[in-house]
Amino acid sequence: MSYPVLILGGTSEARALAAALHARGVAVMSSLAGRVERPRLPEGEVRLGGFGGPDGLTAWLAKHDVRAVVDATHPFAARITDSAVAATARAGVPLLRLERPGWTQPDGADWRWVDSLEEAAELLPSLGERAFLTSGRQGLAAFADVDAVWFLIRCVDPPEAPLPQYHELLLDRGPYTVDRELELLRTHRIDVLVSKDSGGSMTAAKLTAAARHGIPSVIVRRPPRPDTPTVSDVDDALHWALEVA
Ligand code: NAP
Repeated sequence: MSYPVLILGGTSEARALAAALHARGVAVMSSLAGRVERPRLPEGEVRLGGFGGPDGLTAWLAKHDVRAVVDATHPFAARITDSAVAATARAGVPLLRLERPGWTQPDGADWRWVDSLEEAAELLPSLGERAFLTSGRQGLAAFADVDAVWFLIRCVDPPEAPLPQYHELLLDRGPYTVDRELELLRTHRIDVLVSKDSGGSMTAAKLTAAARHGIPSVIVRRPPRPDTPTVSDVDDALHWALEVA
């Protein structure tokens, strides 16, 4: 079976693009890493699991006669993005990056930028004693030795050890509202928030809530991205894909 467009997904933008292409009768394939137990599935065809690095992805592109790849993966999913760059270059297939903009600091918010989760873990005890940790299931090991802080850890699926000694798990997925986030901060007496600069509206409410609650937010900067043509708007990616494929 051939698929003119391959979307590397796992984000709401990827799902929106798949739906738009599917509605126009394009045979689109969405690819998900397959880590989340019950992923929100995009419209159209879906495959799950890694390709086996750039070699595997290159072979997949050839086998399925792919004419355009849209990398709409999460801003922190650096490996699959690098793999897409290498594979599309080898296969001679055009690549577009669809990436949501990072967040903008709300008025009155106290943001502390760091380059990694490890740096966030180092900084945390100087900022508070009860942290709301929303950086996702992966990378929690960075906080495993932070015994001076109690953590409310929110993620979609249960995380693997090692986890910090003092913590409570909250399994949930967005979208969230500011009122609900404020309620969480109050109930758990949170005095510092930790988040990646994921961007997007689905999980932005915590930042507004933290600012209103008067607590600092530790924000992890996005990893460096390859120099790929990039759009942030789903419609722009749609027009590109329709033109190229
Ligand atoms: P990653 O570190 O860049 O990728 C690790 C490996 O997982 C890749 O080398 C690739 O395996 C496989 N993979 C990742 N995304 C894939 C996809 N869309 N289709 C097929 N294989 C994929 O990625 P990650 O940070 O673990 O994220 C995994 C997925 O979750 C991504 O699709 C991303 O969009 C989504 N996500 C990530 C975050 C986050 O904070 N990192 C947040 C929300 C959603 P092979 O090398 O074998 O091809």
